Amino acid sequence: MVSRKMNPERKIYGTYSNRDFNNPVPEFEFPEEGMASRAAYEMIHEELKLDGIPELNLATFVTTYMEPEAKNLYMENAHKNFIDSFEYPQIKKEETRIVNILSRLYNAPEGKDFTGTSTIGSSESIMLALLAHKWNWKSKMEALKKDASKPNIVFGADTHVVWDKFAKYFDVEARVVPLDAKTRVVDPDKLIENVDENTIAVGAVLGTTFTGAFDDVKRINSLLEELKSKKGLDIPIHVDAASAGFITPFIEPELEWDFRLSHVKSINVSGHKFGLVYPGLGWLLFKDKADLPDDLVFYVNYLGDDMPTYTLNFSKSAANIAPQYYNIIRLGKSGYRNIAENIMKNAKYLADKISEFPELEVVSRAEHIPVVTFRQKTSSSYTLFDLSAAIRSYGWIVPAYSLPDNANDTVLMRVVVREGFSRDLADIFLENLKQSMEKLSGKGIEKSKISSRRGHAVS
Ligand SMILES: *Cc1c(COP(=O)(O)O)cnc(C)c1O
Repeated sequence: MVSRKMNPERKIYGTYSNRDFNNPVPEFEFPEEGMASRAAYEMIHEELKLDGIPELNLATFVTTYMEPEAKNLYMENAHKNFIDSFEYPQIKKEETRIVNILSRLYNAPEGKDFTGTSTIGSSESIMLALLAHKWNWKSKMEALKKDASKPNIVFGADTHVVWDKFAKYFDVEARVVPLDAKTRVVDPDKLIENVDENTIAVGAVLGTTFTGAFDDVKRINSLLEELKSKKGLDIPIHVDAASAGFITPFIEPELEWDFRLSHVKSINVSGHKFGLVYPGLGWLLFKDKADLPDDLVFYVNYLGDDMPTYTLNFSKSAANIAPQYYNIIRLGKSGYRNIAENIMKNAKYLADKISEFPELEVVSRAEHIPVVTFRQKTSSSYTLFDLSAAIRSYGWIVPAYSLPDNANDTVLMRVVVREGFSRDLADIFLENLKQSMEKLSGKGIEKSKISSRRGHAVS
């Protein structure tokens, strides 16, 4: 989303900097005439080089590395519109396989008909899941001849912004429970205290974006079981496993957070995070087809048959689906486990090294997912926002941010360790972190000395 620019006269490339470029282009207006393809390409290509380097972006959970074969599949399918199942039945089949594979990975009971869909990302998945739960709640209230005008949803302040977005866009009261100051996740008892008969669902996060910590889904589930047996309220849980969904099943298979738990009815995961696919792919899974109201499913014609769809948008590229399926069959469980174990090791190594800096204190050291957060231990002449800006000069992108209210630690820095971040890069990063802190505290090399030395190089 951008706003109006006040200077329609502004031209870019007013200087004729390359051999194919003969005319400046207006920056904010549709140009009257076109230009040579080569010139247009060069101009855009050069300009975009100034973006950050994705591999050095330690802020993001989103995949920046794919194997050449996965990249080929991505490009080979980029010009297929995924919604056209009639024309492209094979790519649809791959989606079906992946939904089956993931539902079973998350222990969907074989006795029930699970269902699911690919999406543009976890945000779309979460909106669709919660919309289904809102619809189910409404039907239940109407059947009981009760007021169905005041739905609410209960989740912790550790959730991603999309949960608030859902509440606002779909007119549901958001009951946001503050974080526990010690665990930096939500206290399950406090969460359940907010539940009543108008609650459409309870949210739980597997891997908060703030510290990577896990909500205690098992405890939330047993409290909801208790509520059901005491008060007859049957409230579903939606688990947001955007980041952990492609890690936890492989390295902590015994941890119960998924469809094994009675109230967990829907799960989302981002294919473009640790699913290891370029951005634009999420997954939504329902434990039981019956939890997805028929009213919300629309049909597109498919080989003379009707193909059900449940999405917010319509057209989208099929580019992502094939690389996701490629990763699954290429890596298998052992491959995903191996990558997860390696990035967890690198994250822990990074946390250990960061804790050796006297100025810094590690807040979370990759307990379940490869996220390391740290803060300043001592008061100092610079802030973590300054440090974030200083380390950017080496190319590293590491955000500084404040935690939601109540989690008392003020400002943190976060590093997400992904597949491309090797031990070698970790060492370079640590060296640059040290240099940045030295510069900021005035202990770095003095610039004046360098220039005066140069000045003495006389004849
Ligand atoms: C990344 C993330 C989201 C949003 O997912 P997108 O795939 O970027 O839409 C939601 N919840 C959590 C916990 C996340 O980490």
